[in-house]
Amino acid sequence: MPTFSLSTECLRKLRASRWLAAGALFLASHAADAQTTSTWNNKQCAVVLTYDDAIDVDLDNAMPALDSLKLRGTFYLIGSSPAVSKRLPEWRRAAQRGHELGNHALFHPCDGSLPGRGFVTPDNDLSKYTVSRAVSEIRVNNTLLNAIDGKTARTFAYPCGDRQIGGVNFYDQLKGEFVAARGVTPSLQTAAQVQLDNVDCYGINGQSAAYMIDLVKQAQQSHTLLVFLFHGVGGGHSINVDLAAHRQLLRYLKAHEKDIYIAPMVEVAERIKAAQQGGAARK
Ligand SMILES: [Zn+2]
Repeated sequence: MPTFSLSTECLRKLRASRWLAAGALFLASHAADAQTTSTWNNKQCAVVLTYDDAIDVDLDNAMPALDSLKLRGTFYLIGSSPAVSKRLPEWRRAAQRGHELGNHALFHPCDGSLPGRGFVTPDNDLSKYTVSRAVSEIRVNNTLLNAIDGKTARTFAYPCGDRQIGGVNFYDQLKGEFVAARGVTPSLQTAAQVQLDNVDCYGINGQSAAYMIDLVKQAQQSHTLLVFLFHGVGGGHSINVDLAAHRQLLRYLKAHEKDIYIAPMVEVAERIKAAQQGGAARK
């Protein structure tokens, strides 16, 4: 019957076009993979180790563990922290060894109007800030960090992950002064998926080495960026990772260094920025 043969013909064309579409998708995803791999310094994935809040254990526990394996991380400093004012030469030497001193604001203001924010003091309540005050304090912290390490390129981390004051994204005014800003949402992302004004990360609080190493393996398989967020390392903060678990993670990273690009946030973000602006970074 004519209708039958017409349908068969349609079906055949439809199948052919599906094959073409599948082929195009395959090529596109391969091109995306190639781009992602070059962004990760021609390795399988990127891992960034970040440490928040400028606490003594950064210098006493986390940094010695990193240095012993020649790994580098990002330390998000609160300018007003006593661990900054009392130990300036140590932070300066840390930067000279290649660690990034990131900006975590001058006073770590968080939005006290949100649920579960009983710890926020009236002085440091972001919901009571004006946008210009938040922006100014973060700029002053950049000046302080520049006086310590002499650098102008660095990244920011949102205190408590809070990005808005009265519905306004305060970082919009700071975009030109940072390479990227780290948020607090957990996910693995390809270079194309990363939002440089809110880079995702996995906050660690008591998880095992096996959990953290499994995340790294997932990043290796999916060719994505994995950012860890630590506070205390072997104590020093209510949010903590066990010292031995942290060491085991670093040992896994070191043992797989040929497959995993491990660098401070500013360096990884520079590469992502270059890739997103077209043309992968080939440094
Ligand atoms: Zn913090």
